[in-house]
Amino acid sequence: MEPVTVVLAELVERHRADTAGDVARYIPELARADPHAFGLAMVSVQGHAYQAGDAAAAFTIQSVSKPFVYSLALSELGLAEVARRVGFEPSGEPFNAISLEAGTGRPANPLINAGAIVTTALIGGDGEAAFERIRDTLSGFAGRRLTVDEDVYRSEAATGDRNRALAYLTLSQGVLERPAQQACDVYFRQCAIEVTAVDLAVMGATLANGGRNPVTGRRVVDADAAGATLSVMATCGMYDHSGEWMLRVGLPAKSGVGGGVCAVSPGQFGVGVFSPPLDPQGNSVRASAVLRELSAELGLHVLRHTERARSPLQAVRTDHGAHHLELLGDLGFAAAEEIVHCVRRLARDQPRPLVTVDLSHVTAVRPIARRLLADCAAGLRARTTVRFVDPAGLVRRPSTDRSDTPGERAERAE
Ligand code: GLN
Repeated sequence: MEPVTVVLAELVERHRADTAGDVARYIPELARADPHAFGLAMVSVQGHAYQAGDAAAAFTIQSVSKPFVYSLALSELGLAEVARRVGFEPSGEPFNAISLEAGTGRPANPLINAGAIVTTALIGGDGEAAFERIRDTLSGFAGRRLTVDEDVYRSEAATGDRNRALAYLTLSQGVLERPAQQACDVYFRQCAIEVTAVDLAVMGATLANGGRNPVTGRRVVDADAAGATLSVMATCGMYDHSGEWMLRVGLPAKSGVGGGVCAVSPGQFGVGVFSPPLDPQGNSVRASAVLRELSAELGLHVLRHTERARSPLQAVRTDHGAHHLELLGDLGFAAAEEIVHCVRRLARDQPRPLVTVDLSHVTAVRPIARRLLADCAAGLRARTTVRFVDPAGLVRRPSTDRSDTPGERAERAE
């Protein structure tokens, strides 16, 4: 199996047994969700996609839609105009709280329900046109045409009195730009858009890539809007759990009561997770646990970032069917993922090419990178010879080497 996929599959297997939490029930249709469904997907800013578990299972996006609609509002109106109606401070309160700023009447931020309804109401056109603009934008982020789960939409429309109350409150404060019922209707439809974990990963990768979808190559929002959106995700994305999330996971993220979470490693990756059982804050239990571990293992915490962001590949030279990859700097997960992708592409070129990976100028190798490179070489053994020039012994022998001892293997896997 492809080495990055193996890492994701292992994470899913490790967290399958966490059965804590319960599916959302306050929207009756969501109570039908399968508590066992569990999917994980990751997409790089080069557009490489990886997945494990039920990453192709469909569920409703719910609050994960909020940052993407915020980025659309920012693109259309600019930050100053949007900020007159919705703030950017973490509320420290639950997603459905009445958090309006004294004096201005603005909801605290665009990721709690009150702020999201106000943000949705900023998108131009009548209700139908506004919804289609929202759907088009979310589809642009996902790189495919997204559809609505009509049953979930109707279920929330029939029971969403608290959201209607929030809409009327913001209307009374003069920050809601539409009739309250219409604003809620567009918001409920937006929340009922169906996605998969893979979609959330592509959507996150588009934010990670400054607003251009790395799979389709199309720009969806401008880079300023993408950056501002990631900022509010970092501070407000997990509601009253946002502070601890930033400390422990360290990735801008957004959860939804459908069980989805989208997390972003800026400039590197988008990650999508799906698992319906929620904790008391309304965040998916397994998604939180798996993202915490993924962030630590792959070294993605944004504030503990010590690796070089630029490509480790200095040059790729090809001479008589032999490829030579010259690397430079520190190799972390992102660097190794890029190298593995490149080596596997070269291995497809022709029968039995020789690929030399030159680590003479590499300064440090993170364990996850060492593992991916070794697994890559081992996995391609039947098709290609992958040779490491490794004077400092940073990667050592690939795990297929017969002289490799179990102790060395364990050390590599740590
Ligand atoms: N549609 C849901 C609501 O407004 C979204 C909430 C969520 O996902 N946290 O209640």
